[in-house]
Amino acid sequence: MVKKVLTVGEILVEIVATTRGDGFLEPQPLVGPFPSGAPAIFIDQVGKLGTPAAIVSRVGADDFGALNIERLTADGVDVSGVEVATGETTGSAFVRYRNDGSRKFVFNIAHSACGTVPITPAADALFDSCDHLHIMGTALSSPGLKDTALAALARIKARGGTLSFDPNLRPEILGTPGLRAALDEVLAQTDLFLPSGEELFLFTDASEPDAAADELLGRGIGEIVIKNGSRGARYVSAGRKLDVAALSVEELDPTGAGDSFGGTFVSFWLSGADPEAALHYANAAGARAVTVLGPMEGTSTRAELDALCRRTEG
Ligand code: ATP
Ligand code: MG
Repeated sequence: MVKKVLTVGEILVEIVATTRGDGFLEPQPLVGPFPSGAPAIFIDQVGKLGTPAAIVSRVGADDFGALNIERLTADGVDVSGVEVATGETTGSAFVRYRNDGSRKFVFNIAHSACGTVPITPAADALFDSCDHLHIMGTALSSPGLKDTALAALARIKARGGTLSFDPNLRPEILGTPGLRAALDEVLAQTDLFLPSGEELFLFTDASEPDAAADELLGRGIGEIVIKNGSRGARYVSAGRKLDVAALSVEELDPTGAGDSFGGTFVSFWLSGADPEAALHYANAAGARAVTVLGPMEGTSTRAELDALCRRTEG
């Protein structure tokens, strides 16, 4: 049976500073708007691979919302669960890279259209028809979005579905009230955990990656994939450890790499592929994402991933 993937979370436009520096305290050149939002990028990648995909979210009746709906639809994502809210504004993120490669964000999520996502009849129907849920930590950072994500989780799990979870935490949202409890609640039900780097230690007492992974496996999380940026990725389950080196590409814009990686891993994983194949393709998707400016601009089809692997592997 072909499984359908659902995500619940923010849809944003992203505006990217074209120069490096610390944030937005002075006027500066910008480029955008680009379709964005970690859950949206994730599900766009799933759709591009031909895996049935849907998102529950909310946008304003404005160009920023239309831009996103058009892109997701073109890439095969079911947007029936995206409510268009008249009189509200689509969410946004402004991002500027610092010289050390770190990023400064200005987010407008909690008070935008996607900050509150009531369960519409269309969303309710998706909770009944989807087999897998992917949750991003950012979607737990606003109360009006978190409750819907947790409702989707309860419904899909009750029907025997599976959950993947990417903490995807930004320093800007870590202090949100109630976030920690929601993260713990989601982690406890996670089948496939997709942290990047230090996020592995957010939920463990361990201070070393393998010990942290073992601690999580011991708590019932079936499989863990640790994303390590330009250092590649590592898959860990009870009986198996796999490492993959990053493909050698020129990094232009790393935003969206983790989401493209995740969407690809989940697509292959749900289709029953061996974790090694899933890791290989996810690694290629992450690599391809960093070569393209704009968060969702670097999502990939299967043919694009195969072409990148041929080029970089020989
Ligand atoms: P984000 O949340 O910004 O989308 P992330 O922190 O979740 O990113 P990363 O670890 O940065 O995720 O990247 C995910 C994967 O993409 C990596 O594990 C790797 O496979 C690939 N990748 C990332 N950066 C590079 C790079 N510079 N070169 C090649 N592959 C990369
Ligand atoms: Mg991430």
